[in-house]
Amino acid sequence: MSSVAYIPHGHCYLWQQPLVLLHSLSDSLIAIAYFSIPLALIYLIQRRCDIPYRSIFWLFSAFIVSCGVTHVMAIWTLWHPAYWLSGAIKALTAIISLYAVITLVPILPQAIALPSPAELQALNQKLQQQIIERRQVEKQLEHIALYDSLTQLPNRALFLSRLEQAVARAQRTPDFSFAVMLLDVDRFKMINDTLGHLLGDQLLCQIAARPKTALRAVDTIARLGGDEFVILLEEVDSPAAARRIAEKLLKAFQLPFQLEDHQLLITTSIGVTFSSTPFDRSSDLLRNADAAMYRSKAQRHGGYAVFDATMHSQAKQLMQLEQDLRRAVACNELKVYYHPIVALATRQVVSLEALVRWEKPGEGLVCSAQFIPIAEEIGLIGSIDRQVLQAACSQLKAWQQLDNSGADWLEGTQLIPGIDSLALAININLSAKQFAQTGLPESFEHILQKHNLSGRCLKIEVTESALIEDAARADKILSQIKSLGVQICLDDFGTGYSALGYLHRFPIDIVKIDCSFIQGMEAEPEKLEIVRATIQLCHALGVKVTAEGIETHRQQKILADLGCEYGQGYLFAQPLSSAAVTQLLRGKPTQPY
Ligand code: C2E
Ligand code: MG
Ligand code: MG
Repeated sequence: MSSVAYIPHGHCYLWQQPLVLLHSLSDSLIAIAYFSIPLALIYLIQRRCDIPYRSIFWLFSAFIVSCGVTHVMAIWTLWHPAYWLSGAIKALTAIISLYAVITLVPILPQAIALPSPAELQALNQKLQQQIIERRQVEKQLEHIALYDSLTQLPNRALFLSRLEQAVARAQRTPDFSFAVMLLDVDRFKMINDTLGHLLGDQLLCQIAARPKTALRAVDTIARLGGDEFVILLEEVDSPAAARRIAEKLLKAFQLPFQLEDHQLLITTSIGVTFSSTPFDRSSDLLRNADAAMYRSKAQRHGGYAVFDATMHSQAKQLMQLEQDLRRAVACNELKVYYHPIVALATRQVVSLEALVRWEKPGEGLVCSAQFIPIAEEIGLIGSIDRQVLQAACSQLKAWQQLDNSGADWLEGTQLIPGIDSLALAININLSAKQFAQTGLPESFEHILQKHNLSGRCLKIEVTESALIEDAARADKILSQIKSLGVQICLDDFGTGYSALGYLHRFPIDIVKIDCSFIQGMEAEPEKLEIVRATIQLCHALGVKVTAEGIETHRQQKILADLGCEYGQGYLFAQPLSSAAVTQLLRGKPTQPY
């Protein structure tokens, strides 16, 4: 029998063919390729290495699957002995391909999901961007926590931490000393009330930037809140150096601020304390600077004070005073005194300035200068001004109805010619804060009607500060009040902003030159020249002049020679109680209070 026992249809017996070795070799190579490719792919995928192109991966996978299937179909040839070598190789590759397919299928979605290098790069960039954004957010959060959102200055928390560092350094290094300065804008609430919070905020930003010109890079300026700023002056070798910086700061604040079309002049009060002053905690330094600032404010606006041990107890007293003042307003402890204003040529009383006094139980009379600034600060001035206006108008009506003898007034040793009570006028002081209130002209009209008084009986005294904040509005209010017949006096002229343009711009009838000029006039020729120039300018503009605080005959004579119309001062009379004025109007001598 031939070696070929049976040749299936479509096949030939290759074993005896010369190409059998070549055939087996090619089959083997293909088989090696079949299982090396999936193995390599599995290896790559499992290590999550980059697969260059997703499409190539797909092609390989499809190729392997189809080859695997072909070889599965070829297994049947195994039974034929002539095919055993090629059949065995094919079967082996089929098993490996199958294994590859079974292994690859579950990890295919994962492999497909693997990003390409471009995607990876984009992802990386995105991640980096996110890291940058996150850092920015962290920075922003830190900024919000440590910096004031309006002025961008350090806030209280950051300031306290720097202060603590300075305190620690001062404890370690005896040569190192520092100072803390607390800076408060005078009457800022009034600016806010008058100009609105938007402009108030703008002003605060400008105020925050202003001290930088007077400070060094090592110094820290922070906003404590509202209109309060605090400065840490490091390496200040002497209290005198800190004083110089305080003066420099005050000077810097003398320049006007430009807010839209408003030009604003403000003053600030500064409290200073040194690291050499004993303290327990670093926050005590802030408290000390605060007490010094209050002292400075109480003395005058626009100055500075250095902390000393007495100030702390005084700050406590001030708090007590505030409470007492609230009670005094509520319980009617405030009384109106009347200070005569005389015509210098005739010494005849033309008007009485209503000045508020506090009859403090157990302490006697307290002068307005001691509590009016506090009343303005704590918002009580409106009630006080209303009470004074009400009391003065009702008193004037009572005096007008008096059987007035027109006798001479006898005041101390000075004889003042008597006047007809019907010709008497009352001067009412209006706080800048009260001036900013709405409905002021209407309330004047109402009170005049209520007491059946002519507008000519009333003069109002306003200070320059009340006019500057909102000049257009001030002009309108003054014109409305003036239309009632009420005269307008510009009080304390020379102490505030002293813009001479006001005299022309506002409907002012009388300028009251501040007593500091009158009292300094004899010794200081410059003050005399200022008084002379003011009187001349006022007269040129048709404005009359009252000189405040006349205490000597010489002052009276100088002023009369300069043509000043009216005068007021202790030379003529002290402020009088209403009972004392009543007695005088009846022609009876009285004692000053
Ligand atoms: P002012 O309107 O300039 O009042 C004049 C102040 O100078 C008064 O002080 C008066 O007693 C004082 N004075 C008058 N003549 C002389 C003098 O010859 N020598 C000296 N050394 N002083 C003299 P007073 O009463 O303490 O008032 C201080 C300020 O308080 C006033 O200044 C005024 O701005 C304010 N004020 C007083 N009463 C009221 C009020 O009812 N309402 C408001 N808003 N302010 C008031
Ligand atoms: Mg006055
Ligand atoms: Mg005055």
